[in-house]
Amino acid sequence: MKLHEYQAKALLAAYGIPLPRGEVASSPEGAEAIARSLGGRVVVKAQIHAGGRGKAGGIRLVETPQEAREAAAALVGKRLVTPQTGPQGAPVHAVLVAEAVAIAQELYLAVVLDAAALGPAVVASALGGVDIEEVARQSPEKIVRLVPDPLLGLLPFQGRQIAYALGLPSTLVRPFADIAGGLYRLFVEKDCSLVEINPLALTPDGRLLAVDAKVVLDDDALFRHPDLAALRDREQEDPLEAAAADAHIAYVRLDGDVGCLVNGAGLAMATLDLMTRAGVRPANFLDVGGGASQERVEQAFRIILEDPRVRWVLVNVFGGILRCDVVARGILAAVRAKGSCPPLVVRMLGTNMEEGRALLREAGLSVTFVETLQEAGDRLRSLRGGL
Ligand code: GDP
Ligand code: MN
Repeated sequence: MKLHEYQAKALLAAYGIPLPRGEVASSPEGAEAIARSLGGRVVVKAQIHAGGRGKAGGIRLVETPQEAREAAAALVGKRLVTPQTGPQGAPVHAVLVAEAVAIAQELYLAVVLDAAALGPAVVASALGGVDIEEVARQSPEKIVRLVPDPLLGLLPFQGRQIAYALGLPSTLVRPFADIAGGLYRLFVEKDCSLVEINPLALTPDGRLLAVDAKVVLDDDALFRHPDLAALRDREQEDPLEAAAADAHIAYVRLDGDVGCLVNGAGLAMATLDLMTRAGVRPANFLDVGGGASQERVEQAFRIILEDPRVRWVLVNVFGGILRCDVVARGILAAVRAKGSCPPLVVRMLGTNMEEGRALLREAGLSVTFVETLQEAGDRLRSLRGGL
């Protein structure tokens, strides 16, 4: 689950990380009042669950409270399209109004879960800011990585090591190590999958301030943090992913055109891998679960049918505890509710497979039964070629 910048900054503050002063507003008048109370120049920042706002006009530096009001009016209630949102953009319901800081240098500092290293990695660069992706691509040697022992956490000397590697002056080594230590503790204690400060600004008077903040929480650990779970902003989420999350269905939207209904996360992953290798582009990951009920299958299939990009559907079910006839009944219920169904390619093996296949066959749908995923890939490719 993603947090908004202002929510992420509240967490950073709780871990002693220095920030520019600021407050969130949901109206132009509110933004003006905050700007007045801060005094001087402020920055008005669109709050959406995506970065790249600077490049998209979502970050506005202004001189007066009146200008802050105008900047907020231009953002609130609109959708902002950034390089990270996709063409549909994300709705702006609030702006963060923060004191504008003078920036001498923009650093990058993050903690990410590194699956290969089997733990959280600290990633930093002296070349932070809006072009960090470009830096990572073109000059990977300018990115410093350190994987602390997860049982010990980030030790102070390791924080200092990173500061030296970035070439920071000696006066900034301790402040930087404190920030890195705080960020690492936040990552672990709040069960994050990412915490990122970009830019970590170095001011001309020699202070380090977190000018931007991003926090992504591990959904599977949210039950341990009801206060954080309450920060969820459903409007920022993909509507189909949000519907799946509400139904406790593991679903991730991808960018292909073949909807995939599979039982079991491992089988679902393998299915996506094999389809991708066969030149078929999955529209989603979906694990309906091992012991799903007919209602759950129906919900899952409705989510697939709601995706306007889905032109064909692959069903790959290995009937064990979940019986194939239950899957078929769930599918048919969803199709009845929707009133239509794209061509289906169905691999249905295991418990009650004959009954499941018969139900689908007799429903008058366009359905091809296959025995292997190889055949499924071939069939889906020829369906695409035939259109
Ligand atoms: P993002 O584009 O969504 O990552 O939004 P950021 O909050 O990181 O802002 C983008 C860029 O705007 C930063 O890298 C800075 O260069 C600039 N910026 C943001 N806030 C300030 C500020 O208070 N002062 C100055 N001088 N620049 C800022
Ligand atoms: Mn940023």
